[in-house]
Amino acid sequence: MDFKVNVQPSSSPFKPTESVKVLVLGSGPAGLAAALYAARADLNPLVLSGIELGGQAALTSTIENYPGFPEGVGGVELGDLFQKQAERFGARIELDSASTVDLSQRPFRVSTYNKDYFANALIIATGASSNHLNVPGEKEMTGHGVSYCATCDGWFFKGKQVVVVGGGDSALEEALFLTRFASSVTVIHRRDIFRAGAILQRRAKEDPKVKFILDSVITKIVGQKVVEGIQLQNVKTHEDSFLPTDGVFIFIGHTPNSSLFKGQLDMDESGYIQADGKMQTSVPGVYAAGEVSDPVFRQVVTSAGMGAAAAIQVTNFLGKN
Ligand SMILES: Cc1cc2nc3c(=O)[nH]c(=O)nc-3n(C[C@H](O)[C@H](O)[C@H](O)COP(=O)(O)OP(=O)(O)OC[C@H]3O[C@@H](n4cnc5c(N)ncnc54)[C@H](O)[C@@H]3O)c2cc1C
Repeated sequence: MDFKVNVQPSSSPFKPTESVKVLVLGSGPAGLAAALYAARADLNPLVLSGIELGGQAALTSTIENYPGFPEGVGGVELGDLFQKQAERFGARIELDSASTVDLSQRPFRVSTYNKDYFANALIIATGASSNHLNVPGEKEMTGHGVSYCATCDGWFFKGKQVVVVGGGDSALEEALFLTRFASSVTVIHRRDIFRAGAILQRRAKEDPKVKFILDSVITKIVGQKVVEGIQLQNVKTHEDSFLPTDGVFIFIGHTPNSSLFKGQLDMDESGYIQADGKMQTSVPGVYAAGEVSDPVFRQVVTSAGMGAAAAIQVTNFLGKN
């Protein structure tokens, strides 16, 4: 593809504009690691933070599997450290969100409510959001017994009783993973048939720690400071019941935050941006890192690694273009 570089396309006459070499969308681990690497390459990156400064990691109280912190680190604190380190080398972070993008020519245009940005290279690190049950108590108890990540939080439930919500591969995989810690793991599924693969189903059914409550949905998560139980309803009989539990792990899917780029970048059927091993998307000069393009690993360390890789690729790209 042939690009015109450094010719600023027309913008709204009323909006301020700014041209940058590298624009990073997202201030989670991928975005801030990308900003650090781009800043150290003297590219003066600008980060648009989105509404979640620090990203999903900031939603959890303690992260115990990010290397370099043998005692663990607070989620908010880790985001803060990432930010400070990127800023130390000249990255700027704006508390703003991209609302529209135009990737049809370079520089790429990214508009927020307040401003139009023109960027010679773009790193998309807008992450993904776990699908929620949207029941009372869920939001209040997130980080206090409600979790969307067994790898991250399973350890906190040593010897405790937990429930897992969902019927797909990730629900059963995570249920089996949680048996390493929890004394019992009850899988709650709204149907009586699982989407999960047969082998996983067999392993879960054969595991003495795993129990099942089928044809049932959670209608409320109950607790004062931490989760104490769940209110359930059987979808066939409409019978209500209460199940005491210490933890609720929800695995009912993930939605990548990629809707802004629909029709402009290649995506898979679930909306994950398709990037190659070098983080390159279908548009040269546009890179994707972290959970917006990763349905598999979904960790702080892997997302940060992808952010760093994307920034290294941007440095090479701008050197050649
Ligand atoms: C409760 C919880 C606990 C977790 N615990 C752990 C753990 O212990 N260990 C671990 O390794 N992983 C953990 N994870 C997973 C980890 O947080 C994620 O893998 C990681 O944060 C993904 O990083 P990311 O940068 O790709 O995306 P995200 O962290 O999702 O960040 C996305 C960023 O993009 C921004 N954004 C979105 N839309 C826009 C827009 N339009 N314009 C500009 N910015 C935008 C958001 O504001 C946010 O800053 C946990 C996740 C959750 C939800």
